[in-house]
Amino acid sequence: MMNNISDFIRGSMWGLALGDALGKPIEFKQLIQIREFYGPKGITKIPRNAIWTDDTEMTFAVARALIKNHHLSVEEISTQIADEFINWLDNPGYAPGNTCRMGVFKYKNDPNKKWWESGIKNSKGCGSAMRVAPIGLYFSDLDKLYKVAYNSSIITHAHPTAIAAAVGAAYLVRLAVNKTDIKLWPEKVKNFVDNVPEPGRTEFCNAINTAVKVLKNQNTEEAIKSIGRGWVGEEAVGIALYCCMKFPKSADFKKMLILSVNHDGDSDSTGCIAGGIMGAFHGYDALGDEIHEWTNKFMEKERMIKMIKEMIRSLKK
Ligand SMILES: [Mg+2]
Repeated sequence: MMNNISDFIRGSMWGLALGDALGKPIEFKQLIQIREFYGPKGITKIPRNAIWTDDTEMTFAVARALIKNHHLSVEEISTQIADEFINWLDNPGYAPGNTCRMGVFKYKNDPNKKWWESGIKNSKGCGSAMRVAPIGLYFSDLDKLYKVAYNSSIITHAHPTAIAAAVGAAYLVRLAVNKTDIKLWPEKVKNFVDNVPEPGRTEFCNAINTAVKVLKNQNTEEAIKSIGRGWVGEEAVGIALYCCMKFPKSADFKKMLILSVNHDGDSDSTGCIAGGIMGAFHGYDALGDEIHEWTNKFMEKERMIKMIKEMIRSLKK
């Protein structure tokens, strides 16, 4: 049974922005520093006038491309995403990643506009995994989902492991939309990246295996540490999946978000990925009053409301 379209789009888009914004103040802090500043539980709430970062801004760029072109061919959609990334450069959000900027600059200045050659070959940063939620929201056709997610990565991140992470993250959002039993997600997502070139497939699957293995560990700090810090794609998706599986209930969405950002690594990106997945899984309505209040705290909430409306309208057509 699938969620209804408006509900899963609102849940996912607000969820990813909330994870991103919750992680923003602590992106470059170690857990020990986070606790010193925010107390033993770490950061636990969204401030007034909250802002999201480059993660949500790039997600908007992908969403805009899909609003316009999701019914067209994979090629045309991919070109549209690359073009939207050029527009993104004008308003990149807080702390945009170097690989994203370098790849987009390369594409922008390429007279032949070959987006498939613009990506940085040796970057396996999480920048291409953090922005793919709309791809999972739009495509029930899994072949199309795979190819669009793949291409969306190589525009900036051409390392096979970054590609695997982007493909895997988009697919996890789809599994969430489809209300697939969470226990099945690890096996399914590993199978889904089967055709991604090595070392992408193996490195991604290793991170997923670790995430599953450490679920039993009562010490969540230790568990997340053993997956990694999330700066690279496979670790970011591994940490996000771990948090989803640790707190799969809608009543625990806030706990899930808090866990997904309070660690040594790339807090806003792991929060963004986890929030986008679980927001799609529960749907907006089930997230509850407190989370709904949090969404009112964004400085730019009107932009998000407009984006969500356009996404819903384009998908219902
Ligand atoms: Mg960021």
